[in-house]
Amino acid sequence: MIDFSLSEDLLEIQARARKFAQEEILPIAAEYDRKGTVPPGIVEKAKKAGLLNVTIPREYGGMGYGALQSAIIAEELGAACSGISITILVNGLALTPIQLFGNEEQKEKFLRPVAEGAKLAAFCLTEREAGSDAGSIKTTALPDGDDYVINGVKCFATSGSMAEILVVFALTDPDRGARGASTIVVPANTPGIRVSKVEDKMGQRASNTAELTFDDVRVPQSNLLGKPGRGFPIALQTLDFGRSGVAALSVGVARAALELAIGYAKERQQFGAPIITNQGVSFMLADMGMKVEAARLLTWQAAWMADQGLKATAQSAMAKCFASDTAMQVTTDAVQIFGGVGYMRDHPVEKLMRDAKILQIYEGTNQIQRMVIARQLAKL
Ligand SMILES: Cc1cc2nc3c(=O)[nH]c(=O)nc-3n(C[C@H](O)[C@H](O)[C@H](O)COP(=O)(O)OP(=O)(O)OC[C@H]3O[C@@H](n4cnc5c(N)ncnc54)[C@H](O)[C@@H]3O)c2cc1C
Repeated sequence: MIDFSLSEDLLEIQARARKFAQEEILPIAAEYDRKGTVPPGIVEKAKKAGLLNVTIPREYGGMGYGALQSAIIAEELGAACSGISITILVNGLALTPIQLFGNEEQKEKFLRPVAEGAKLAAFCLTEREAGSDAGSIKTTALPDGDDYVINGVKCFATSGSMAEILVVFALTDPDRGARGASTIVVPANTPGIRVSKVEDKMGQRASNTAELTFDDVRVPQSNLLGKPGRGFPIALQTLDFGRSGVAALSVGVARAALELAIGYAKERQQFGAPIITNQGVSFMLADMGMKVEAARLLTWQAAWMADQGLKATAQSAMAKCFASDTAMQVTTDAVQIFGGVGYMRDHPVEKLMRDAKILQIYEGTNQIQRMVIARQLAKL
């Protein structure tokens, strides 16, 4: 049986997320986009509203939600401001390796205090020379007595200069390349860690993106998640987990642009009539509407499959790729429908278009998603 209606539980989550997004995020979105900083207190407010660390189990301070519940939240937050929302959403992603691969002691030591205390965590995989090719990271974590000593530079870490906990991917056995990579939890106040750059971005400016330099950073070997050499599979599994979240965030961005464009096209008069009466404009809106609906359906399907325990590698890559391409296309078309004013900073569609671009890049670029999809299709 297929049922496209949302359950009572999902409707409650959607209404709660929408209220929070419209009351706490939307009114400050433009201000923090200009400032290029994370609004103070927003993470604590999200925690209070039950919208932080949503996929972390309740026993460790999260909400214990599944992928579909999480996707519904991400769309609502994304429709208000994807920059502010990514700080809220990526926290759960950064904590996922501890949730999935940490032992009981590590969960008590790292997961619970961060999740319960509404503190920030950062996922530190990317390096300057290792982006799409994450298997070529060079940061090392060499065993020394009971410790690992970490050296290297991690870039583009979301919440990097604000996080209290860093989940770092580094080579514990450099001779084995990607097979020698491991995942290590590193408290951000450990001596030797330096914020070497805070990025000034095109979009999602109300999020923090930082480069972190590790100079002889010493952490106990007991901070290793899972087994040594399993870092790469841990990274891939974590990113797989988060893909429908980026898709849902993209649907939110696209939906916001579509709603603004419809409103403006009905109100803006040229040649003595609303511009929506021109087929050239109304067909653009029709295409935008179709894409938003299709992106949401793909996203919900991928999330639903993950919740059923079904293998959703292809569907989650399709959802991320299609929804973020949709966000880019629909925000660009929304600017077109607004005409000259759409290009100005004081109109929200300009921000939506800048915000949309990164959705095609992070958590695996859309070229990489297409590679994943093609490989899965070739297996059929
Ligand atoms: C705002 C922001 C936040 C981020 N947050 C995080 C974070 O929290 N943690 C983290 O670890 N990383 C994070 N990243 C890093 C992000 O995941 C990488 O930027 C992304 O994976 C792409 O890597 P790259 O930038 O090195 O691009 P590259 O890998 O150098 O790619 C450049 C171009 O080449 C294409 N390309 C590369 N290889 C292939 C191929 N085989 N076939 C076809 N095309 C290819 C890419 O699609 C892209 O278009 C963030 C990045 C940004 C900008």
